[in-house]
Amino acid sequence: MEINQDRLWNRLHELGKIGVDPQGGNTRWTYTDVDMQARDWLIDQMHQAGLQVQEDAIGNVIGIYNPADSSEAPVISGSHFDTVRCGGQFDGCLGLLASLEAAETLKENNVSLKRPLYVIGFRDEEGNRFSSGMLGSKVITGKAEDADFSAVDEAGITIGEAMKQRGYHPDLYRQSRIDPIYASVELHIEQGKVLEQADCPVGIVEGIPYLRFYEITLTGCSGHAGATPMNDRQDPVLAMTRWIQKITELASARPYTVATVGNIKTVPGSTNVICDHVTFSLDIRSLEEQNIDDCLQAMGKLEAELKAQGIQVSCQLRHILYGVECDEKLKSQLEQILQTRKIPYQRLMSGAGHDSQNFKDVCPCAMIFVRSENGYSHRKEEFSSKADCAAGAQTLLDLLYQLTNEE
Ligand SMILES: [Zn+2]
Repeated sequence: MEINQDRLWNRLHELGKIGVDPQGGNTRWTYTDVDMQARDWLIDQMHQAGLQVQEDAIGNVIGIYNPADSSEAPVISGSHFDTVRCGGQFDGCLGLLASLEAAETLKENNVSLKRPLYVIGFRDEEGNRFSSGMLGSKVITGKAEDADFSAVDEAGITIGEAMKQRGYHPDLYRQSRIDPIYASVELHIEQGKVLEQADCPVGIVEGIPYLRFYEITLTGCSGHAGATPMNDRQDPVLAMTRWIQKITELASARPYTVATVGNIKTVPGSTNVICDHVTFSLDIRSLEEQNIDDCLQAMGKLEAELKAQGIQVSCQLRHILYGVECDEKLKSQLEQILQTRKIPYQRLMSGAGHDSQNFKDVCPCAMIFVRSENGYSHRKEEFSSKADCAAGAQTLLDLLYQLTNEE
């Protein structure tokens, strides 16, 4: 069974015509007029593909292919159709339309399924308008809470109010949970350069990393830059360089672990004064939480050394995002499919967060990445070639076909 790559490509470009920003690219923030236009278009396309279409309480669009009227737990495949400001045509949309293409191909071939296939267009993934994000998938997986609906946009409208304005029923969000779910598969553009550098059109995602964000303060002793001899200083900036060097080495030595210091503030921050203290951020991610703990524990030796030299260290945890490890069985099924199809592939970690995260502990989950030209994403230049999109969609179809027919 082969997907129709022209149909997929045309749909991508049609959807890309909705919400074109005068500054370039697409701006389709959630529950705005253009987002609703995209929703209307999607529903229409799902009808044309022969799917049963439903919308849940908050507007997740669900296209169902269930030829045998099965009451088994469904396989879910989809992604989001909102965008960041001046975003590209591929982020989210490719995954959603590839899922639709897979369902339509199954229907065209009159394939019967043991369990239903749900193609889902998730709402509010990017979270730009309300500083929220991934709310649609949170609702579907039963992870949403009342507080999620009170996030406000610049005009002071809560996301719950915005839903009501569009005729949705945020108070009934609990009814939108789908339970049980057999498996979830999301295709997405990579948004990085790993596949491009490996010359692979398709990637198998190992998982979405855990993320912890820390604020670290090193306190030393302020003094005159000219009058304080080099052997009598407690300079926190020098200590910081050692700290960053060490955490970088520790992260590099562990699989799928990355550590980034992106923000540094020195106090008082004068050219001729040895700093009193320095505060900096640490963004540390890994597929396994244990790697993060190990890195931070291993910092203890250096921190004891610094303390002995008069530098105080404080490390405050500011934020945690839980990741998800993709299912091993699904990953090997993907590997098999890609080998059979002779599509070059690579396993890789997802740098960014995705709706799939919300399927953690709900059902087995898989993600397929499609190569991004130059790794561009969240900008109008975002691009994946027609052939790469087709390779990804074909892989998705083959996996969905297996999952919907497994014993
Ligand atoms: Zn996305």
